[in-house]
Amino acid sequence: MNSVLVRILAAAAWLAIPALIGRMAIGADAGWALFAGGLLILLGYHATNLRRLLDWLARKDPGDVPEASGVWDDAFALLHRRERRLAQERQRLARLVVRYSQAGRALPDGVVILDGDDRIVWCNSKAEARFGIDGNTDVGQPITNLVRQPEFVKYLAARDYTGPAQLKTGRGAALTLSVQIIPYDDAQKLLLARDITQAERLETMRRDFVANVSHELRTPLTVLMGFLETVRELKLDPDRARNYMGMMADQASRMQHIIDDLLTLSALEVAPQPPWDRQVPMRTVLASLCADAEALSGGRHHISLDAHGDWDLLGAESEIASALRNLVTNAVRYTPEGGEIRLIWRSSDTGASFAVEDSGVGIATEHIPRLTERFYRVDSGRSRETGGTGLGLAIVKHALLRHQASLQIESEPGKGSRFTASFPARRIAAAHPSTGVVT
Ligand code: ADP
Repeated sequence: MNSVLVRILAAAAWLAIPALIGRMAIGADAGWALFAGGLLILLGYHATNLRRLLDWLARKDPGDVPEASGVWDDAFALLHRRERRLAQERQRLARLVVRYSQAGRALPDGVVILDGDDRIVWCNSKAEARFGIDGNTDVGQPITNLVRQPEFVKYLAARDYTGPAQLKTGRGAALTLSVQIIPYDDAQKLLLARDITQAERLETMRRDFVANVSHELRTPLTVLMGFLETVRELKLDPDRARNYMGMMADQASRMQHIIDDLLTLSALEVAPQPPWDRQVPMRTVLASLCADAEALSGGRHHISLDAHGDWDLLGAESEIASALRNLVTNAVRYTPEGGEIRLIWRSSDTGASFAVEDSGVGIATEHIPRLTERFYRVDSGRSRETGGTGLGLAIVKHALLRHQASLQIESEPGKGSRFTASFPARRIAAAHPSTGVVT
């Protein structure tokens, strides 16, 4: 500031020099006139620059700082520097805002920022999809105008946000959301919406599964206990005792089958990816499946094998054989005496399929999508009578999935069923000549 004053005074002093010369050369009046004129020019210079500064400050988009000379040049240069710093700061903040909003958009949870009156300030795309709101047009709208589920309205109004609320949204309430409000900055609120549909489904499945396993094991166990009690309490002759022992062994073996199947399922869940380089000799597998079917049928059915293509599957032989065996044994178990069972193998360089066709009891359409669920049975009595555990098709589905294969089920009640396992081209390889060609 001092230097500015010095410079202004110096300029005034410079004006005094011509004034003094004028005074000495022409006279005192001329000297004063020259000094006054100089002062006027100086004033004009400052007034012009002040005007330029005011004009520049008044502009909406000020643009570059004006250029000037002398002391004003310093002032404008300082302003220019400050302006540049502010512009850089603005850019940094703008980038930060963009980055934060990109991060907000990338969050897997729906996020809505609400003001003190519960009006929408901002939301990310997940929140748009989950609540059916529009992040552009709905800004400023009270959230309860758009999210009207009573559970949500109640949760918001209660002002107790210590825990989350659950609500169903989406078409047909297909989504379950866990909604949590986090108040911050006095009035603002952050609304987080997490999709827990899958977690809830898994939890339901887990609960059902535990209940089913307990039920499945309890039934034979109760029967077994009953027999044990009888044998212990009553004095039975050896024949009857043997009879009871046989029935007890049946129940124990039923429990054993259930546990074996459960272990198979859990082994499939934790097993590493089936190999891509192990060839499963299909000729041998098909022959063994035929033999198993014949043995189980005991001559009560007409069983045939129709196989084409000289390709093997690639993967875990035990898993593939066990999946296909389940389909074959089911066909025998659910086909009355005298019925027909066909095993059909088709393989080419585009893929392979194994189908089991039977002329058995068939399945009503509404049951078909649920057959691969654990313990799902159409007719529990028949399943148990034939030694079923209700886990066979769940094992099939799992083993096939692990080999990128799929299971198709077609059936008509009273006419029969066709279960087809289809394998993709990457899971097949030309059969080795030594393993023989299936034709
Ligand atoms: P289960 O041990 O009861 O046979 P699965 O998982 O193998 O269990 O099969 C599930 C249900 O699907 C069976 O209980 C039965 O109702 C039905 N099912 C399976 N295969 C056939 C078939 N070939 N014909 C008719 N119903 C079948």
